[in-house]
Amino acid sequence: MQELTHYIDGAHVKGTSGRFADVFNPATGEVQAKVPLANAQEMDHAVQIALKAQPAWAATNPQRRARVMMKFVDLLHRDMDKLAEALSREHGKTLPDAAGDVQRGLEVVEYCIGAPQLLKGEFTDGAGPGIDMYSMRQPLGVSAGITPFNFPAMIPMWMFAPAIVCGNAFILKPSERDPSVPLMLAELIEEAGLPKGILQVINGDKEAVDAILDHDVIQSVGFVGSTPIAEYIYGRGCSNGKRVQCFGGAKNHMIIMPDADMDQAADALIGAGYGAAGERCMAISVAVPVGEKTADALIEKLIPRIDALKVGPYTGGKDVDYGPVVTAAAKANILRLVETGVEQGAELVVDGRDFSLQGYEDGFFVGPHLFDRVTKDMDIYKHEIFGPVLSVVRANDYEEALGLAMDHEMGNGTAIFTRDGDAARDFANRVNVGMIGVNVPIPVPLAYHTFGGWKKSVFGDLNQHGPDAFKFYTRTKTVTARWPSGIKQGGEFNFKPMD
Ligand code: NAD
Repeated sequence: MQELTHYIDGAHVKGTSGRFADVFNPATGEVQAKVPLANAQEMDHAVQIALKAQPAWAATNPQRRARVMMKFVDLLHRDMDKLAEALSREHGKTLPDAAGDVQRGLEVVEYCIGAPQLLKGEFTDGAGPGIDMYSMRQPLGVSAGITPFNFPAMIPMWMFAPAIVCGNAFILKPSERDPSVPLMLAELIEEAGLPKGILQVINGDKEAVDAILDHDVIQSVGFVGSTPIAEYIYGRGCSNGKRVQCFGGAKNHMIIMPDADMDQAADALIGAGYGAAGERCMAISVAVPVGEKTADALIEKLIPRIDALKVGPYTGGKDVDYGPVVTAAAKANILRLVETGVEQGAELVVDGRDFSLQGYEDGFFVGPHLFDRVTKDMDIYKHEIFGPVLSVVRANDYEEALGLAMDHEMGNGTAIFTRDGDAARDFANRVNVGMIGVNVPIPVPLAYHTFGGWKKSVFGDLNQHGPDAFKFYTRTKTVTARWPSGIKQGGEFNFKPMD
């Protein structure tokens, strides 16, 4: 049995807590490795190393820090296949999807190459007689990030690349479900020239997370994961005086207007609802057709497409549409919610409950499900299922459809499919959700924009990546400088404008 490690001070280090978690191959259900779960002493050891290493890194000019990112991009391309394979083996997603996971992280690293420009600061020449004023963006010191299982390459890179290029040291606590790729990324960025101790990976669970939240040295915490944990981390981190941003769960609605191209809408729903087995925070889990005729037409288009879906292991070749879910517990939770849907009166149009894959009976595969006539009071509507289950909620008109997206407590992403520019514009303006797609089902913003939901999908002020990340990982210091000629008249006792 492979025993995974932490990555501390430039080396793989065995866990000393004596606690481990199983890492599965979700396709076979086998335990393929065990990952150490750090305790507070191990966390503190890494933090002290980060604290020592950070000042020299912060004093390295931004151009040189950016060159590490440039080289890191090259190495990510070089090792893309290796990273994707390791990712699929622990997560279960298909190889092209795993490469996409790496790619979307890599694009944020590319954006970070612009650090010299992004960190330039502001300068006012002659803010008063003989007075100059300038603002600098300085790193925070030691930052930490806690990441979910569903994007084990992308989300760590969304956090550590901007944190590091801003001059911080970073402690990454990845998901204990798929920790191998984060460890590989730490090795790779050091090969790109990052000094030891600037990026460290500490594996663990709640104990390691609490050690981060309570550590005096750690200045900021980024979190991505489920909403209850996001809320907990935000509260405890903030009350300990840290800068915290937490991104939580989702329930993304896609509105289908009667004038939409129904084939296009159905194709979009298949990819956005079932891709990655529905384990995406930007997955569409609720389809809202407007009008009975639209709903009937949509269901008719969806059924054959769902029947044609190929579910299989990542080793199953190019035709596999989606793989297993991450753990047996995740599978059980999805099937439990499906049962509540049936019990509470939703119409299970496509029933994936008996799905089994020959040769992979112990894998965590879940067949695709489609519910029709779902209502707001049902558990399958209220809760994030995070599986290959699409719910259709029929709306009588546009306002009712908009109201559904508005009233749901989650507000990560949403989409509208229509040919009507006016409806699309109205939707984008009024809906209280952070990321909107117009005829685009998964509107994940590119690296140079920012990513973040609204409502219970987020706790904190700034979004991930893009310009917001450079604000989150730095603090502003503003200097007002007057040189001696300005004080020849003696002291000034009144607080007054600089005229
Ligand atoms: P999770 O909340 O179970 O775990 C996320 C992280 O928190 C992991 O590192 C885990 O070790 C840690 N953790 C788990 N329980 C904890 C506890 N009690 N105390 C402290 N730390 C704890 O989430 P997950 O299952 O890994 O990921 C799926 C969730 O993440 C979904 O809800 C999904 O919508 C969400 N997600 C959100 C975004 C976004 O940007 N909004 C992106 C990806 C995933």
